[in-house]
Amino acid sequence: MSPRKLVIAIDGPAASGKSTTARLVAEALGYVHIDTGAMYRAVTLKVLRAGIRPSDGERIERLLATTHVALRREGKATRVVLDGEDVNAEIRSPEVTRAVSMVSRHKIVREAMVREQRRMGSEGGIVLEGRDIGTVVFPDADLKFFMIAGIEARARRRREELEARGISPDMDGLIEEIRERDSQDSTREESPLRKAEDAIEVDTSDLTIEEQVRVVVEKVRGVAEGTGA
Ligand code: C5P
Repeated sequence: MSPRKLVIAIDGPAASGKSTTARLVAEALGYVHIDTGAMYRAVTLKVLRAGIRPSDGERIERLLATTHVALRREGKATRVVLDGEDVNAEIRSPEVTRAVSMVSRHKIVREAMVREQRRMGSEGGIVLEGRDIGTVVFPDADLKFFMIAGIEARARRRREELEARGISPDMDGLIEEIRERDSQDSTREESPLRKAEDAIEVDTSDLTIEEQVRVVVEKVRGVAEGTGA
């Protein structure tokens, strides 16, 4: 009997290692990887381009009516497509990063994204990462992980990511930005960032990427094959 195709939820604060882990876990299992943060970032990009204030829920609601965010697979990579345009690079800009938590607070934005995420995950065989996957999007996910890491480790990772793209940020600024975003994401009214009661916590501060992936993949294989490891 072939193993069951599971729904895997990976949540956690900014730069805790979710994205890289989720991508590699999906690759190892032959699952689809859904970066839900990228979807919120794409909406934010559109809001900024339209000159709308991230706090202006009414105008954002109108904008959403004509907005289409999709994730398209290209070989092993997933591209983020906004109204037919590949916006993979633009959604990682500092401007989008600064505004995304404010845009993500709006109920209407969350409802639209969650609907799409549930649709994509309905057949299983999927690894979704974000802030509210195990609590709101898929509360019945087969396995839930909550990744955490110390602030220094997270800022260092974010710096390496940005440096790889030719940007050289200072550490204090990065620490500040990560703290600010976590605070906004954890204190909002609509589906705040929090660990689901049945999530497995993984502290990635001192783990290599290979180790992070191994922890998750071993658990998933155990459940998929019915050993519950
Ligand atoms: O994961 P990433 O850092 O790219 O997420 C960007 C932002 O999108 C988060 O800081 C959060 O405000 C929002 N987000 C969310 N719910 C998710 C995923 C991301 O509110 N499931």
